[in-house]
Amino acid sequence: MDLQQELDTLACPSCGDQQLILDARSEGYALARCNAPAEYGSCGQVVLYVRLLSGLRQMWPPARPAFEPSIPTALADSLAEAQVCHDSGAHTAATIMVRRLLEALCADHGVSPTTARGGFKSLNTKLQELHTSGVITGQLYDWAIHLKDVGNDSAHDTDSRASFDDAADAIALAQHMLGHLYVTPARYAQAKARRDREQAIKRLPITDVAYVVDLQEDGALQLVSLCPEAVSQGAQGPLAEVWGTDHGDPAEFHGLLEELHRKTASALTARSWRLGQLVPRSGSSTQ
Ligand SMILES: [Zn+2]
Repeated sequence: MDLQQELDTLACPSCGDQQLILDARSEGYALARCNAPAEYGSCGQVVLYVRLLSGLRQMWPPARPAFEPSIPTALADSLAEAQVCHDSGAHTAATIMVRRLLEALCADHGVSPTTARGGFKSLNTKLQELHTSGVITGQLYDWAIHLKDVGNDSAHDTDSRASFDDAADAIALAQHMLGHLYVTPARYAQAKARRDREQAIKRLPITDVAYVVDLQEDGALQLVSLCPEAVSQGAQGPLAEVWGTDHGDPAEFHGLLEELHRKTASALTARSWRLGQLVPRSGSSTQ
């Protein structure tokens, strides 16, 4: 693939269109310009790439960082823009974007932007509401107030300029806040759900009948009776759906499949001396 063909696959970081045209090149770099139509001519965004064996990597403008999917888009967008400002040396703008993130945080937790009389609430009032309702407690509240104050200085005091460190601190604190409020709870929920599924599989009754795991067309996982005795009594068929269509992490899913197969195999072995005692589960779970 030549350079222009590679650019054809990339989106302009400014407008999102795929109309980047190669302007200049050297062995290590490629300079492109966006030709997408805009209000006054074309978008014109200039993008500098470094040429790596793996392909083009955007160097300028700074690429927007990616965040954990558990962080709501409005908050991630503000934080990403703060980071882009900071990377570009626009530190005052970066702290204002962090303040904007706090506004988005309040909105995400249902804090009304207006008072009972219809006036606009200050960010301070909204953060206090989050504090009172227990969403941000202890240090998180202190951090939020600090970030609000830094952002307010940048937004309202035109003599004030945020330094590199001001912006770096604000972004780091904001990241920690989002970690506490979104990323860690989501990770915990994931870990707990995985453990619950594992425990449920360990509790499956497999000593009286042999089962086979059957993956359905829609992706759901079912246990099906294998026992000839059960079949003869009309019990063949799905015994239980043990997993919905959302299998989550494929590695985890396959790990649990293996566990089920292992248990099924041991049940089949055990069956040889339990033939006379097999109890088909047709009554409760199959027709
Ligand atoms: Zn563009």
